[in-house]
Amino acid sequence: MIITIKKNANKQDVKNLIKNLEKKGVTAFEIQGSNFDVYGLTGDTSAIDEKAIQANECVENVTRIAAKYKLANRLMHPEDTVIDVNGIKLGGKENIVIIGGPCSVENKDMVIHLAEEVKAAGGVMLRGGAYKPRTSPYAFQGMQTEGIMAMVEAREKTGLPIVSELMSADKIDEFEKYIDIIQIGARNMQNFELLKELGKRTTKPILLKRGFSNTIDEWIMSAEYIMASGNENVILCERGIRTFESETRNTLDLSVIPIIKEKTHLPIVIDPSHATGAWKLVESASLAAVAAGCDGLIIEVHDNPECALSDGAQCLKPKKFKALIDKAREIAKVVGRDI
Ligand code: PEP
Ligand code: MN
Repeated sequence: MIITIKKNANKQDVKNLIKNLEKKGVTAFEIQGSNFDVYGLTGDTSAIDEKAIQANECVENVTRIAAKYKLANRLMHPEDTVIDVNGIKLGGKENIVIIGGPCSVENKDMVIHLAEEVKAAGGVMLRGGAYKPRTSPYAFQGMQTEGIMAMVEAREKTGLPIVSELMSADKIDEFEKYIDIIQIGARNMQNFELLKELGKRTTKPILLKRGFSNTIDEWIMSAEYIMASGNENVILCERGIRTFESETRNTLDLSVIPIIKEKTHLPIVIDPSHATGAWKLVESASLAAVAAGCDGLIIEVHDNPECALSDGAQCLKPKKFKALIDKAREIAKVVGRDI
């Protein structure tokens, strides 16, 4: 529920109104905006009568939000959320953030070397999985803590903030200590207990990937879980969904970019690597995403994709990664952004 306050309202009247509403068990917070004075109510608003609120002299109008998500809702927060990651800003009209790196950290030297190449190409953050969600229990499961520490060294050498996937709540403290953006993978998008723990135990930005069979509203509700539990630093990441099409690994749903921007105020990043599953398709998917208004790209890069321990078929070599960034920069200009 959104309450718009009259321009010259008496401050004490507003205070009393909010105090009375909070007595009914809802939380009221002021919504930032330059031209308005607005309060959003979260929690169970079913017992609140909007006509009774409207009767207050200080109230301009009251709107009940139909969507189940409140904190993620654009109506509650008209301005774009911009997330600061070690000084790099993601969202709003800020530069489009390019994140590159291997699917999995395979050894320390490899990830440090790739970090240098990602940086030289124009990438501003490093990705690398240390805990890997693999379909087969016999496949490489990731270097785990050793992989995290290799990412930390790569950050020390290059200054690039690091992004890595967290799979279980027992590793939150490790990620809180070492990782700059905590990735929640497609398979865990609806692991609600994990989402709640993330909200409670960290304020690090969360890159929340869309589940492969989830609707946009389900995805936003997952963001809402994290936000309602205390961490509002959520970045949404589209990584392709499952459809009948078998030519590509997944189907990249680019329409989510304007839809997410309309429904929410959160930044949106596109993962063209998992969306297509084929390195040859990564560039065109990336350029299309930039043209459609994404806030960032997360791309798998590997020096020797033929020998990669995971997702080699969709990894770009550093030279191709650089060529992609150079083209994306031109497209970004058309939509009023930079890279
Ligand atoms: C990954 O980023 O390597 C990954 C496993 O992603 P997703 O959860 O999108 O499959
Ligand atoms: Mn991968």
